[in-house]
Amino acid sequence: MTKPLKNRIALITGASRGIGLAVAKTLAREGCHIWLNYHSNHAAAQSAKEQIEALGVSCTLLPFDVADAQAVRRALEPMLQTQTPYILVNNAGVRKDNLLIWMKDEEWTGVISTVLGGFHNVTKTVLGAMIHAKEGRIVNIASAAAHAPVPGQTNYSAAKAGIVGATRSLALEVAKRNILVNAVSPGFIETDMLDGLPMDKILPLIPLRRLGTPQEVADLVAFLCSDKASYITGQAFGVNGGVCM
Ligand code: NAP
Repeated sequence: MTKPLKNRIALITGASRGIGLAVAKTLAREGCHIWLNYHSNHAAAQSAKEQIEALGVSCTLLPFDVADAQAVRRALEPMLQTQTPYILVNNAGVRKDNLLIWMKDEEWTGVISTVLGGFHNVTKTVLGAMIHAKEGRIVNIASAAAHAPVPGQTNYSAAKAGIVGATRSLALEVAKRNILVNAVSPGFIETDMLDGLPMDKILPLIPLRRLGTPQEVADLVAFLCSDKASYITGQAFGVNGGVCM
């Protein structure tokens, strides 16, 4: 079977673990070479690189903080001199939950600067090359929290709702350049991000009565990057077991 994504480059932020790693491996199975960003967990990133290279493609590790615009440019601009990613998945994210009345300034800015700032810093750095190439796919990982918020997440809900808005606006800006931009909004997915949450309270809220897997999110992302999704742009898709409709 031919693989239309074979030898394309996919840049995925926050791909050393969790959803990002599942996306990277799924696109690697389609033949993409992977530019794998992460923040600071070098051991996890090294393990991710080995898993991806075992699939027969290259994997370039790019450790940088997506919230740091200068670090983003320092890491990516030299790579962009000679190569252009066809796919960008803005996945890096953190949550720092607290009721707004108690929320520390760094809890607010930490989430906003990683999620929204990261989207801005990475996308803007890559977009010129994509526009020049007149093709590309951008998938932004939002959250059910953008559509059906819960208390204690004003920072996270604001950032993720912002991602959905930015997805739609950017989709309008670059449609004529043959660049498609969509968002995927996961519900509760089994990753390190859920550590410490009360599962006994959460599971009854999910109509399918289970957590999602990173692979179930990755499969939708890979579809949105494929030729089969060539008429889809500016949309936000839930992968949430029915938790938000
Ligand atoms: P995770 O398991 O906690 O992994 C987070 C990944 O992001 C790691 O690779 C981490 O790198 C990287 N990262 C964190 N901050 C970063 C920064 N400032 N710069 C660069 N990389 C950074 O998270 P996940 O659950 O897979 O979540 C992935 C995305 O899905 C996030 O945007 C999250 O908001 C969203 N999401 C998750 C869920 C869920 O239930 N899990 C639900 C809805 C939405 P290191 O390994 O170096 O720390």
